[in-house]
Amino acid sequence: MLRSRAWDNGLVHCGILFLDELGEFPAVVLDMLRQPLEEGAVHVARARAAADLPARFLLVGAMNPCRCGEGSLRGACRCSDRARARYTRRLSGPLLDRFDLAISLSRPDVEDLVGGPPAESSAQVAERVCFARLEAATKGARCNSELPMSSLEETVPLTVEAAALLERRLRSGTLSARGMHRVRRVARTIADLDRAGPLVRERQVAEALSLREGHSALLMQRT
Ligand SMILES: [Zn+2]
Repeated sequence: MLRSRAWDNGLVHCGILFLDELGEFPAVVLDMLRQPLEEGAVHVARARAAADLPARFLLVGAMNPCRCGEGSLRGACRCSDRARARYTRRLSGPLLDRFDLAISLSRPDVEDLVGGPPAESSAQVAERVCFARLEAATKGARCNSELPMSSLEETVPLTVEAAALLERRLRSGTLSARGMHRVRRVARTIADLDRAGPLVRERQVAEALSLREGHSALLMQRT
């Protein structure tokens, strides 16, 4: 699967890799993504040659809560607990940890579907995203997710309360060290989208943490 035409043509680099039905991919295939996600490159070694191919990409995955697809509706799921656990186990903890955002979605309300236009237009959102990208560029990165870990103290300065919140989550074991760095970068983006200034506050860290709650939902389902 990974050896696709897009990969051969170098389209994956700086592109978007969207994997639909994530739970249907073999675990070994999904885990192959860990290295390029971490390093932004793929190392290929053969008997006569070795090559490093650039592969910094945005990974987007979608999956149902279970194989029958009805797991989000109370009483509608036809899967056994074991089958549900097996389905989500395809995603290893380390791979899951590398997703900056993991969100459980439910079916939208009819009122939302037939309601009026959204409060904020796409053009307004695009303007805020553009601002956030420019802010990232001033820090030498294409986007905040690429901010080097070594520079986070400087590029994502936290208030005392924001730092304390991260520390509590680390001590409780609900956040890994890798996850903490990712949360910090996401909180930077939330602050930039709000044009909130250089200091990242507790509210933004809390929002970044809430955008990872899908991790815990998946981990609970597999036990
Ligand atoms: Zn089901």
